[in-house]
Amino acid sequence: MAIEGERIAAVTEGTDPPPGATRLAGVTIPGLANGHSHAFHRALRGRTHRGRGDFWSWRELMYRVAGALDPDRYLELATAAYAEMALAGITAVGEFHYLHHDPAGRPYADPNRMGEALAEAAARAGVRLTLIDTCYLRAGLDGRPLAGVQVRFGDGDAEAWAERAGALRDRPGLRVGAGVHSVRAVDPAAMATVAAWAADRDAPLHLHLSEQRAENEACLAATGRTPAALAESAGVLGPRTTAVHATHLAEADVARLGATRTTVCFCPTTERDLADGVGPARALADAGSPLCLGSDSNAVVDLFEEARAVELDERLATEQRGHHRPADLLTAATGSGMAALGWTAGRLAPGQLADLVTVGLDSVRLAGTRPADAVDHLVFAATAADVTSVVAGGRQIVEDGHHLLVGDVPAALHRAIAALDEP
Ligand SMILES: [Zn+2]
Repeated sequence: MAIEGERIAAVTEGTDPPPGATRLAGVTIPGLANGHSHAFHRALRGRTHRGRGDFWSWRELMYRVAGALDPDRYLELATAAYAEMALAGITAVGEFHYLHHDPAGRPYADPNRMGEALAEAAARAGVRLTLIDTCYLRAGLDGRPLAGVQVRFGDGDAEAWAERAGALRDRPGLRVGAGVHSVRAVDPAAMATVAAWAADRDAPLHLHLSEQRAENEACLAATGRTPAALAESAGVLGPRTTAVHATHLAEADVARLGATRTTVCFCPTTERDLADGVGPARALADAGSPLCLGSDSNAVVDLFEEARAVELDERLATEQRGHHRPADLLTAATGSGMAALGWTAGRLAPGQLADLVTVGLDSVRLAGTRPADAVDHLVFAATAADVTSVVAGGRQIVEDGHHLLVGDVPAALHRAIAALDEP
């Protein structure tokens, strides 16, 4: 393979490596795309899983961490979280970002200081960032105002959100997208403003959709429509749009998402941790929706695990095997995710960004892999720990399982998380 700058120039099979070539031992696949992340949730790993409760009680714990972050702590935590992703073979991440303002809800001197901290963190970790700048205006469908930690999320109205987000510019390694937090947090008129903003810029547009039955029930009671129907009526669905979770859908919602070619981002390790349920992945794919994958709460950062979970969860739910081909699950983890994040990447072909992830085949998990079954092995048996080398945009960022830019990633994570426990 020949790389020029950040892109693949040529792919030639079956030739001897030319002088100066780097030989990557193992199976090399396109870079993995993490379609949905909240970087700061990494600090909750191991602290929120025990006992009973549900999404809503988990959210209280999540809000405590959100309340403790300032731009410097966020930079440190996100750098370490993105470096962990790089070690797992992730070369682009979609950060669903709504922690915009200071703890009192006042804008920082630079109103995009928190978003810029995320952009800087991704640059330090060597991964590309799609900053999904998310509009979050109210506490519920009844129009309750934001309260407590939530005041950090709000811009007041959609026009103020658009003005602030509009000051962010695409640059090498950074793509700015738009987010509608959910139908709970954004009213239909504001959703339409966000959708128009994204359309003007040809930018990715993401929203949380029907993760919880309670959201569906509240939406139906307040508007007479399901969240997917309401989003469609506001112009939010379409081929640049990604619906995250889409767990509890009516049949008509599946048809709606498919017909509009809206991508659906499944986050199975988070959805099972929060007891959300299992979404209709096969039905959505059949209806026309591309599928992609996200680590979401970052309790687990392993896109191989997310990919196989789409199939394995559906097996448990239906008592049948074979819903998704392994190659399609790998496409969800690569090309479809890159498209959802606005990058020309995810295939090993000329013109694509040169993102190369090499998985060693000499671990106990993958020893015995036959070339003919390599994709099945990767999807059903590989883990993030099997990634040995990562090239992102033509630059090697991981070599022999070590991060070349951040160095000691576990120490960076430890420092960043311990800092949040301090007053
Ligand atoms: Zn999320």
